[in-house]
Amino acid sequence: MSFRAILLEKDPGFSARVTQIDPRRLEEEAGGGNVVLRLSHSTLNYKDGLALTNRSPVVRKWPMVPGIDGAGQVTESDDPAWPVGASAILNGFGVGETHWGCLAEYARLRSDWLVPLPVGLDARSAMAIGTAGYTAMLCVLALEDCGLRPSEGEILVTGAAGGVGSIALSLLASRGYQVCASTGRSQEEPYLRSLGAAQVLNRGSLAVAGKPLQKERWAAVVDTVGSTTLANALAQCRYGATVAACGLAGGMDLPTTVAPFILRNVRLEGVDSVMAPLALRKRAWEALALELRRDHLATITTEIGLDDCLSEAPRILAGEVRGRLVVDLRR
Ligand code: NDP
Repeated sequence: MSFRAILLEKDPGFSARVTQIDPRRLEEEAGGGNVVLRLSHSTLNYKDGLALTNRSPVVRKWPMVPGIDGAGQVTESDDPAWPVGASAILNGFGVGETHWGCLAEYARLRSDWLVPLPVGLDARSAMAIGTAGYTAMLCVLALEDCGLRPSEGEILVTGAAGGVGSIALSLLASRGYQVCASTGRSQEEPYLRSLGAAQVLNRGSLAVAGKPLQKERWAAVVDTVGSTTLANALAQCRYGATVAACGLAGGMDLPTTVAPFILRNVRLEGVDSVMAPLALRKRAWEALALELRRDHLATITTEIGLDDCLSEAPRILAGEVRGRLVVDLRR
């Protein structure tokens, strides 16, 4: 029996559509997988937005089923660690880029990519968190592994009304940090305060090139924006601060100098979710299951269906989506 999926094709020109797929194509196109998941939920991340609009070269094999995140149950497996019926989460590992992905009712995947659904989370909540939320937790862990504690002062979160930003804000505030949320959407101030922001900053103040060293303010930064925003955040760091850089919503460049590093001992921590080792993934997911406030997650999340992904993709790239989009694949 066929299943529903989004299919991206590039011949004769780029196209993205919801279609029915013959399961035998999973064998042919999604080669190398030893488990099949029946997916109940997926999500739309910034990277999925790039893939669905072909805005940047996320997809490196055609045709492609996009979707870097999925949650569901094993229906076929040759791995005794993942028996039929087990609940699993998939994030990254090139899925939706080089390997058929999770904006589909079924996906054939490698069992060593899977993380068990942590106790306390259902598939919908896991996908409401998704790669964005798991990356937010990776940023928090990176900062605390560098020694950050709430007593050290104000933390800046950029792109705060987006997916990574919203969850980073909630997690940091719950851990007792004083968080300043940078946003371009002043109308979202009540939303950001409801997630725990102590201050809300207009992102325009970080978007204009500034001096290599500026007034010291931040004890740490979670940056989802990159470019001039990250350069200014670095220049405003206090002595010994740590910056977790995970995103490029404002650009891929980084017009900075060495001054923050060599004069203020600032540390720049890169954060990658795609190839993160399994032990770190499990640590992040277990911490999310324990800590992320469910009332915050409900505020952050909007539910959509598979068909809606096509119209939401350009909106997420335009910075118009607030928080997270969870995709109910059964709708
Ligand atoms: P979202 O689109 O949900 O959020 C991005 C936010 O950035 C927007 O909501 C907006 O926030 C802000 N923003 C958008 N455009 C600009 C701009 N031109 N200048 C300044 N700010 C801007 O995306 P996600 O939260 O899912 O992802 C954020 C970034 O992190 C993306 O670049 C994504 O690729 C990256 N990422 C990286 C991962 C990794 O493994 N390293 C994993 C997950 C995401 P506001 O309206 O509040 O200003």
